[in-house]
Amino acid sequence: MKKKLMIGALSSVLVASGISYTAPGVSVLADGPDYKGNETIKNERLHSYEEMASMLEHLDQKSDALSLEVFGQSVKGRDLYLAKFGNNEDNPTVLYLTQQHGNETLTTEGALQFIKHLTSNSKEVNELLENVNILVVPRLNVDGAEGDVDFSLDDYVSGTHTRYNANGVDLNRDHVDRNQPETKALHENVLQEYMPDYMIDLHHQGAETTLGDTDELVSGSILYPTNEEVDPEVVEKSKQLGAVLYNTVESRGFGTLSKYIGGSAQTISRNGLAAEYGIATLLFEMRGMADHYREDYVLGQKSNGYLIKQAVISLEATAKAIADGSIEEVDTSFWDTLPESSYNRSESE
Ligand SMILES: [Zn+2]
Repeated sequence: MKKKLMIGALSSVLVASGISYTAPGVSVLADGPDYKGNETIKNERLHSYEEMASMLEHLDQKSDALSLEVFGQSVKGRDLYLAKFGNNEDNPTVLYLTQQHGNETLTTEGALQFIKHLTSNSKEVNELLENVNILVVPRLNVDGAEGDVDFSLDDYVSGTHTRYNANGVDLNRDHVDRNQPETKALHENVLQEYMPDYMIDLHHQGAETTLGDTDELVSGSILYPTNEEVDPEVVEKSKQLGAVLYNTVESRGFGTLSKYIGGSAQTISRNGLAAEYGIATLLFEMRGMADHYREDYVLGQKSNGYLIKQAVISLEATAKAIADGSIEEVDTSFWDTLPESSYNRSESE
């Protein structure tokens, strides 16, 4: 009897802490191959779509702060979720977007922990939500994240996740044409509906990106909009967003960030949203991926904990700085000396 209770309690703790567990009846993927001999890829520890959806629905039922909205459907008909906190038009609005690329998973794990934190009804959170509207779109590419696509993943390391949506399209190159249902819904039902002031777009890059000329591996890379049509004031606000995030991550000891080398095309959300809507945007690329057809991009699970933590502290710190206005005072000069990424074998945002 006692043992049974303890098992139940443990499951509750795992769920409450946002750590994924495997619910009965949910299909479990076999462990992936060894990664560099000592790490094993276990993508089943991440939230599946069903687990993510049930977590969000559960939080929505118990929390007054959270308003959960389905803002569209994927190619395969999965609901796309928007978690909304705060609805005061006098306050600034920030949007956190994750997993436009289905194989870039830990960003969503971080976003789910952040959403859970915002439903805690603590004094700190309530004060925060009095001063900022927070929107979270966790996992835009829900089909690619499930490997439920109309092309083969046989050549992938794990065969469970892909960058592309079910039609084989890179969603982060579809922010001008919006030919795909995921990007169309994001623009029409989130961006144009709520007009955020700030947006952080969370991704993962190759596992072996280094800081400048050094051999030091980075835990992430950041970049502001670089399209020439973006208003310089929007670029400066974007740099401020990056400064808050940089100061937060670098002060924790486990993070090292480089300046991402990215393109200037408006088809990329970092550029397109800044140019079209005047949103201050930041790209945040974290280290490694859950799955890829290139082995050197795939990250073993030993790093999952600190990378999820890196995402959570970044979301919390930027929301707080926007809420209390300190983001407008932050020094952006670090960008001038921030070493650029060295890309041995990295993939673009
Ligand atoms: Zn990406």
